Amino acid sequence: MEMIARRIRIRGVVQGVGFRPFVFRLAQRYGVRGWVLNGDAGVEILAEADAGALDEFLGALRAEAPPAARISEIMVEAAPCGDHATFEIRASLSAAAPTVRISPDLAICDDCTRELRAADDRRRGYVYINCTNCGPRYSIIQRLPYDRAHTTMSAWPLCGACRDQYDDPRDRRFHAQPVACEACGPTCRLIECAGGTPPGAANASGPQAVRRTAELLRKGAIVAIKGVGGYHLACDARRPDAVRLLRERKFRKEKAFAIMACDLAEAAALVELSAAHAALLTGAARPIVLARRRVELAGVAPDTDQLGVMLPYAPLHHLLFDAGAPHPLVLTSGNRSNEPIAYRDDDALERLSGIADAFLTGERPIARRIDDSVVTVRDGRPFVIRRARGLAPLPVAALPADEPILALGADLKNALTLVVRGEAIVSQHIGDLDEYETQRAFEQTVADLLDMYEIDRNRLTVAHDLHPEFFSTRFAQRLNAKRRIAVQHHRAHVASVAAEHGRLDQPLIGVALDGTGYGDNHGIWGCEIVTGSVRGGLVRRAWLRPVQMPGGDAAARFPVQAAAAFLQELDEAPDFSKPPFEFPPRFRDACRLIERNVRCFKSTSMGRLFDAVAALVGFTREISYEGQAAMWLEHRAALSQGDAPPYPFDGCDPRAMLREIIADRRRGEPIERIAARFHAGLADGLSRRVTEMEEAREGAIVALSGGVMQNELLVARLSSRLSAAGLRVITNSAVPVNDGGIGLGQAALAACSA
Ligand code: ZN
Ligand code: ZN
Ligand code: FE
Repeated sequence: MEMIARRIRIRGVVQGVGFRPFVFRLAQRYGVRGWVLNGDAGVEILAEADAGALDEFLGALRAEAPPAARISEIMVEAAPCGDHATFEIRASLSAAAPTVRISPDLAICDDCTRELRAADDRRRGYVYINCTNCGPRYSIIQRLPYDRAHTTMSAWPLCGACRDQYDDPRDRRFHAQPVACEACGPTCRLIECAGGTPPGAANASGPQAVRRTAELLRKGAIVAIKGVGGYHLACDARRPDAVRLLRERKFRKEKAFAIMACDLAEAAALVELSAAHAALLTGAARPIVLARRRVELAGVAPDTDQLGVMLPYAPLHHLLFDAGAPHPLVLTSGNRSNEPIAYRDDDALERLSGIADAFLTGERPIARRIDDSVVTVRDGRPFVIRRARGLAPLPVAALPADEPILALGADLKNALTLVVRGEAIVSQHIGDLDEYETQRAFEQTVADLLDMYEIDRNRLTVAHDLHPEFFSTRFAQRLNAKRRIAVQHHRAHVASVAAEHGRLDQPLIGVALDGTGYGDNHGIWGCEIVTGSVRGGLVRRAWLRPVQMPGGDAAARFPVQAAAAFLQELDEAPDFSKPPFEFPPRFRDACRLIERNVRCFKSTSMGRLFDAVAALVGFTREISYEGQAAMWLEHRAALSQGDAPPYPFDGCDPRAMLREIIADRRRGEPIERIAARFHAGLADGLSRRVTEMEEAREGAIVALSGGVMQNELLVARLSSRLSAAGLRVITNSAVPVNDGGIGLGQAALAACSA
């Protein structure tokens, strides 16, 4: 048999995910000789065998790659035959690119889950079981290179048995940095708070702590449980008393809670799952998956037909369910309303002591806070709503940048984007930068990313929002960097879509439907149609007819206040304080502000138009979380039966539509039907507006983004109208359409303006 040799280079996330032992095992299987090592751009292999064996080896490399690996490219070239007697794992030649070295956190794998439950396994019931295919990564790394000594596991030296596995290339735990066992590793502890007193010493540890936690949860208690990226607050999702108590203590009135089902079968009974949903639920990232609910869990997700469900991803979750914890469990971020999630033990004990009845803490420290990711499915593809655990810091796009770019995002739903060697990575979700704690978290994450990816500040470009009052903008001005660039919010939304699709030169018609963003003219924008390309520049071409929006931030919290702005534009209007509208006095006050032009600003916000229509059909109270009125309106529309002809809308002026809504409401039309006709009118008017643009005839494609695009009903109709007119439509998938995607768009525009 003639021997031939191949040099194989594999790019993607292939380090720290068990790739080298996987290659080693394949080489044994097919009698391949040579070596494998971690190179500076990925994994490099020299493989020597006869042609048939090499083919099989290459096929298996692609087909059987470890679940956590993300192969972006395999390059194969001929190489001279050497004198290799065996196949070996060689030491790394040089330091790899940081984007190759840092893997996101991975859900527990099937093999480890089996061992966790096996009667004779030495890690049976061990809370921190993991292997090269699974376990924490980003959440425990303190610095590079990714070695145990540089993780939060450095305090626990390996025992002999763990060391043997760590050193054995045939073992699943070969070079698994966080490997540990009951004998040598950290454990968990339960601390119960007696009658509201601050937590004291641990009451139980290990399996006993897990059993007692399950018992407390069965009794309706709220337990703070340490997870992978921070603390959760947990309670029995089927106990309305426990759910209500959690809402009271957490100051979270109505916003939906996520739940954890014990397995896929239970999840499928709770929500409608397509194959794409199931793949997301069971994948290594293991996010919260939003899907249409099939059952009502009292108080868990009021006023929406969606439910966020996840499956166990840490060994502890399986252990809790195995120990008899109720399922599904409410599992919500361990924080007080808008604060960032608690991830340090002392901090959690202090901040959550009034909320939780007990704390199940773990000894393994968390290096950085990372919330659960939230993902849903659109057109069969993942649609990320919050990018965090399991996804951060994976690259989301390639950008033409030789020098590093740090894009700071927007002040709401903040996330950072860092471009290193042309790869754009998006940080974990940080939150709203109006809270002191979140601002600190933002600063920490900036420092952390610049450090971890070894960024040279003298070469750094910083991109930020155009809004002069944003915390992130002021931060950008203080940051030591080579160059600063301000990017208009809605251009960033549109550019984020182009960046994800690798279409920076593509002529676009960008449609950004949004809550608020600072405009070129210092007004507040939020329904913008731009044309051009990311490389050539995006020009504002059309927008919603501007109104005078009264009272700053309060307009976003009180739908009747937003309604005042739009209704003041009508020539004649009924008395909105009377039935069927019954607007509270705040409406009159807002009207007076507009009449006197006090504390008003020009606005084209689509989000506020949704609020105004929600107010007209009955949502007249203050919202208790961002986007609530619009979500409520979408839910009403989705409940509408029969036909819903679109209200008249030219894509710019909503007054005709508002007049009809008012008339229909006074006639006693069902609010579901009014809501549905509003959605239809909006989609049809906007799509006509777009299709009539000359760029549409010249082959531009349509990019949809902005927070309002989370509205599935609206986007489905808008996309189908545009597609029917022969236009190609693209939108975000890996980054959110909401402000979580702004950083990527800023980075793309900054990369193209170099
Ligand atoms: Zn594993
Ligand atoms: Zn051990
Ligand atoms: Fe936005």
